[in-house]
Amino acid sequence: MSLPLTITFLGTGTSQGVPMVACGCSVCTSQDPRDKRTRSSIHVATPECAWVIDTGPEFRVQCLRERIDRVDAVVYTHSHTDHVMGFDDLRPFCASGRELPVYASPETMDDLIRIFNFAFGRTTHVPGYVIPQPHLIDGPFSLGGTLLTPLPLKHGRTRVNGYLFETADRKLAAYLSDCKEVPAAVIERIRGVEALIIDALRYTEHPTHLSVAEALEIAALVEPGNTWFTHICHDIGHAAGEAALPPATRIAYDGLKLEFS
Ligand SMILES: [Zn+2]
Ligand SMILES: [Zn+2]
Ligand SMILES: [Zn+2]
Repeated sequence: MSLPLTITFLGTGTSQGVPMVACGCSVCTSQDPRDKRTRSSIHVATPECAWVIDTGPEFRVQCLRERIDRVDAVVYTHSHTDHVMGFDDLRPFCASGRELPVYASPETMDDLIRIFNFAFGRTTHVPGYVIPQPHLIDGPFSLGGTLLTPLPLKHGRTRVNGYLFETADRKLAAYLSDCKEVPAAVIERIRGVEALIIDALRYTEHPTHLSVAEALEIAALVEPGNTWFTHICHDIGHAAGEAALPPATRIAYDGLKLEFS
């Protein structure tokens, strides 16, 4: 039996966001709301459990905009600033002294503990603070009825976890937000996924992110139901960018919801 699951894009922008500060280019000055991209993150809701993948610098604003009232766990891809700096705004989800499970690779968890030592380093908890309950990821794990499989990706010299969300009989979505390479084993694991959400930073090549052409090559191998580009910079305008893409390939935008029923 499949469970309903909804993915909300909290942010779809690259590390500086779009518009970029002090840029007057046509995308940064666009009136299309889909060209306003906060830092990349998703919220995933199922009947039994809701979680976020990453907490970027605009996490608080994103939660207010999307009326997020439930976060039962946090899962991190990696510790770059654009993915972790909203950590302290998890405080509302630790109301009444509730511990919040935090899932990360050992190297990402080391960084979280160092950066947010005021939360991880406490032996007694202060009311109103984030109360993290660390879980080191060493393989697939379940949140409610959804299985999350970590997908190791190369993002320059940084190792990132993408994630596959599955139920017993469906590969619902794969989230590959920051990567330059997708190993063959990952492509095999996610082949035929209903929704592939993948890094497509810009048209020209970049040392640590996939370009549009590179992301299309990966998508052709994965053969998903639909492909959604994310982690996008100001080189790509939504309307013109999407019009030039192949069928079933779209550009995600802040606030977009993907519903799996
Ligand atoms: Zn990033
Ligand atoms: Zn610009
Ligand atoms: Zn990164």
